[in-house]
Amino acid sequence: MPRSAPNILVCGTPGTGKTTLCQQVAEATGLKHINIGDLVKAQSLHSGWDDEFECLVIDEDKVCDALEDMMGEGGCIVDYHGCDFFPERWFDLVVVLQTDNSVLWERLEKRAYSQKKIQENVQCEIMHVIVEEATDSYREEIVHVLQSTTPEDMERNVEQLAAWCRTWRPSS
Ligand code: ADP
Ligand code: MN
Repeated sequence: MPRSAPNILVCGTPGTGKTTLCQQVAEATGLKHINIGDLVKAQSLHSGWDDEFECLVIDEDKVCDALEDMMGEGGCIVDYHGCDFFPERWFDLVVVLQTDNSVLWERLEKRAYSQKKIQENVQCEIMHVIVEEATDSYREEIVHVLQSTTPEDMERNVEQLAAWCRTWRPSS
């Protein structure tokens, strides 16, 4: 069964603006915003806390099982920093957000992150880890890297994604 509406994945280093973008696109288009971090906490789809990386160890198989039906129907915008464990067939568009390193550092300082965690995340951004993960995991044609440093970037990204949704048609 082809999807009647597209699925979009928004990924990128923590702090690049995924949740803000997804909320605004969901509002503009009617897509359903699925924040994987929130889902993992709400349904306990994890195996505890990783002291080294200071994050929950998510159970990727359980997350995929929990999403399968919704993704099959389509019309979802999925919000998660990584992207390599979702089935490739789920997504019509994969967006990777990127932020200027010093701006990202300032955003992460406003969170209750340790210096070590801030450093690791900014390093992840500098090394283009998520861009590489996305291009390794999905067809090049559907991966789009978008800048998310200024409010103007955010506004343009919302408009671009909303416009893309309006022109999307199911493939027969
Ligand atoms: P993520 O979900 O990727 O961790 P958030 O959407 O929570 O990121 O954004 C982190 C912070 O950065 C928020 O305070 C948000 O308002 C701000 N922010 C995100 N993107 C932009 C942008 N393009 N311009 C200005 N501020 C932004
Ligand atoms: Mn977020």
